[in-house]
Amino acid sequence: MARYIGRFAPSPTGWLHAGSLVAALASWLDARAHGGRWLVRIEDVDRPRCVAGADEAILRQLARCGLVPDEPPVWQSRREGHYQAALDRLVAAGLAYPCACSRRDIDEALAARGWVHQRHGERVYPGTCRPERGGLRGRPPRAWRLRTDGPGGDDVWIAWLDRRLGPQRQNVTQEVGDVVLRRADGLWAYQLAVVVDDAAQGVTDVVRGEDLADNTPRQILLQRALGVTTPRYLHTPLVMAADGQKLSKQNGAQPVDLDDPLAALRAAATVLGLPRELPGANPASWLAAATQAWSARWVPPVAS
Ligand code: GLU
Repeated sequence: MARYIGRFAPSPTGWLHAGSLVAALASWLDARAHGGRWLVRIEDVDRPRCVAGADEAILRQLARCGLVPDEPPVWQSRREGHYQAALDRLVAAGLAYPCACSRRDIDEALAARGWVHQRHGERVYPGTCRPERGGLRGRPPRAWRLRTDGPGGDDVWIAWLDRRLGPQRQNVTQEVGDVVLRRADGLWAYQLAVVVDDAAQGVTDVVRGEDLADNTPRQILLQRALGVTTPRYLHTPLVMAADGQKLSKQNGAQPVDLDDPLAALRAAATVLGLPRELPGANPASWLAAATQAWSARWVPPVAS
């Protein structure tokens, strides 16, 4: 069996709930079904959004569900030197640059081009601070951005294959624009931290919620800029809340019940399309049956 390293990468902005358990379970099952390793990475770079104690609570909840990482968890807040080193390399290669624009500057530049800013849409950066347009022009840097245009200034299309969603493609230059790597408040952006850490940990397979699928092309672009390998991707179905949005703490998600982990696992398996009545009297025996069911569905047989 080829080497496989998977991971679950929760942001400790709250406890594990029915939605995040789906991603945790799917990534664990996929790792086990491939005879691989499963890691947990606490993504706590966005410190203002983190909730004190949520990291340890998530690890306890996972353990209660029988989901125990094969190595000690990694905290992103302890890895900031690696993000700086990656940014330095990108800047030295001419692939990243400092940006002095405030949100307002960006909105004004977009409005001047006749682009109406959509509140929940992407705010595609118009490239005001790109070096060839005059750079910072004496203003202090706020954020650092990745160039999303090609070497000749062409648009960059990223095509990728999701194991569940099938072939995907995106014009990253036009639809995303120059991605923030380090924010104006000095915090490292998720996009940079996730790519640096997946590469550093040798992650071969990313299994995570479908809400993140749209981030994948910009992460692939960043992997290429850093010269690291692109993992395989599988984006899992989301759990929806009563308001029709992805289930989250904001719309009423309840923490996974530590008193009944089996019920929580069964509910997560249903979202993943696994058989409703898998045998198992406790998390460990249920997970063994679930791994077989996952394997049958998502792991192609090896040709002999
Ligand atoms: N930390 C991200 C989140 O909780 C997940 C990152 C990932 O799996 O790539 O939404």
